[in-house]
Amino acid sequence: MAMRRKLIAGNWKMNGLRAGGIALAGDLAGKCKAEAPNCDFLVCPPAHLLISVAEAIAGSGVALGGQDCHTAASGAHTGDMSAEMLADAGCGFVILGHSERRADHGESSSLVRAKAAAAERAGLTAIVCVGETADEREAGKALEVIESQVRESLPETAPETAPEAAGASLVVAYEPVWAIGTGLTATPSDVAEVHAHIRKLLVELYGNDTGSAIRILYGGSVKPGNAAELMAVGDVDGALVGGASLKLDDFWAIGRSC
Ligand code: PEP
Repeated sequence: MAMRRKLIAGNWKMNGLRAGGIALAGDLAGKCKAEAPNCDFLVCPPAHLLISVAEAIAGSGVALGGQDCHTAASGAHTGDMSAEMLADAGCGFVILGHSERRADHGESSSLVRAKAAAAERAGLTAIVCVGETADEREAGKALEVIESQVRESLPETAPETAPEAAGASLVVAYEPVWAIGTGLTATPSDVAEVHAHIRKLLVELYGNDTGSAIRILYGGSVKPGNAAELMAVGDVDGALVGGASLKLDDFWAIGRSC
């Protein structure tokens, strides 16, 4: 079985002004330098903070990511940011297809797939989000919905892999929509079922070596009190954390639970 180092990714969403954001990132960087963590930490601040957060985390091992990108490298797209611009700002990752973007901006899986191709073109690792709504789960359609999102959102070509534990240049995040920001979390057995299904699809799509190297994160109200239980589930290779990533002690404690 592939060894996959856990990734603890903080999605700050549209939160944080300069002073607080830089201090939060700098404090996390300081902790990582003082005490090498057992996982990879990633912070995804809003766009206006990318360059100053890149400076605050330099040399600490904490990675930087964007929260979205356009499909084009440049051009007449007011208000958008390209994957190349994220890379230029110091990002190694970009979150794509978050349910808030699928809902607020009507992003389809085919658009998410095109954005994933743009991320690959710019040398970024895409974190592609999938997940069912409460109605879809209640109707017994969770796996079906997730499967079609995986099949339609992920890049057609296999991501690159390197021999290290964090080797694949693609990450999938399973985020049940009803668990995001609600305080509700999927049960470990539901998470295990979904992650095993996603793993099976990744192996089918990209072959055994690459499919086994891709990290699958769980997201949805992860906090210090439930992190250890969730991180112990098979095929859970880390967490995508919203609210708790804005509190240093909580985010650090989630990383320590790996
Ligand atoms: C998220 O934004 O991806 C998320 C999982 O948020 P929260 O941890 O607040 O539920």
